[in-house]
Amino acid sequence: MVEVKLKDVVKTFGETVALKGVDLEIKHGELFTLLGPSGCGKSTTLRIIAGLDFPDRGEIWFDDSEVTYLSSSERGAVLVFQNYALWPHMTVYDNIAYGLKVRKLPKSEIDKKVRWALELVKLEGFEDRYPTQLSGGQQQRVAIARALVVEPKLLLLDEPLSNLDAKLRLEMRSEIRRIQRELGITVIYVTHDQEEAMAISDRIAVMNIGNIEQVGTPREIYEQPRTEFVASFMGKTNVIPAKVVEREENKVTVEFESFRLDGLTYNEKNDNVVIVIRPERISLHPIENAVTLTGKVDLIEYYGFFIEIVGLFGEKRIIARTISDKDIKGLKPQGEVTFYINREDILVLPRQQL
Ligand code: ATP
Repeated sequence: MVEVKLKDVVKTFGETVALKGVDLEIKHGELFTLLGPSGCGKSTTLRIIAGLDFPDRGEIWFDDSEVTYLSSSERGAVLVFQNYALWPHMTVYDNIAYGLKVRKLPKSEIDKKVRWALELVKLEGFEDRYPTQLSGGQQQRVAIARALVVEPKLLLLDEPLSNLDAKLRLEMRSEIRRIQRELGITVIYVTHDQEEAMAISDRIAVMNIGNIEQVGTPREIYEQPRTEFVASFMGKTNVIPAKVVEREENKVTVEFESFRLDGLTYNEKNDNVVIVIRPERISLHPIENAVTLTGKVDLIEYYGFFIEIVGLFGEKRIIARTISDKDIKGLKPQGEVTFYINREDILVLPRQQL
């Protein structure tokens, strides 16, 4: 278990600035996720933490030691790659044992540790198979066992589930969580899938073009996004450009199209804002402390365990979500609809400069 700190880490590749001064603190025994769109710098951050690449500027610390220019093995971090990188000519057993043989451990010790790792990833009985005789999920388990058998201080996982089908992805992400809890090991996990990040992480860092936009628990990131980018990246949400037209202390009235929403909390100076409303926070019945928006029904979409109502307010589409069939009774495309939104559930954020 280790605490990892990045201090002002900058990394460039020719003209591309991949990391623009990244600061991070990852706690002991935490499952910490780097989340962001393709090319935002997640893998570069992970490789620098792993010791597979070095920053142009800045420092990496593991507990009280600076490790910025130490090799991977010197810092005790192991990276599991997206494609697993198993040795095809070796059996499962030999793949897992490899790191221990390199360390020249006695045979009996190696055997004990390999059997422990096989049990941990639930692959007992598979030791004589070759990687080509395994499913994607099983190969992933071997890769994780191979990483864990050397008892790393830090496990780094780069999009470990991206080659698996949807069902296996769900299964493996619970497995990774279980193993992490069982061992109490610090894990840094990279993904571009916000749902996966929410489900698996203790905390998430949302990255955008070489910067960290926000660090927080899944709930904080989802419910209190601090920037427009984080709000729109975290799941399906309504992000509506609007203008502040009145201010009184920390309360504002904002306007979009011909709609005015009053009594919203906003402390920033910028009058160009976005309002952020989660679809599941919109009610189709009157509720307390609500602003109301009356428009037309554009679409009603049935998703099985919920229903979405896309309302048209002037030119703006706003999505509401309900789990109750009763809520859509009487609604029809082009018919009138009123959305009720508690003021506390409306977030006003400065509009992002492009
Ligand atoms: P993905 O989800 O697509 O893997 P990522 O968030 O992991 O993306 P990185 O792989 O860290 O992103 O890349 C960050 C930026 O640095 C990108 O613009 C990428 O093109 C660039 N980059 C990364 N590695 C190299 C390299 N070896 N040479 C040149 N440019 C690179």
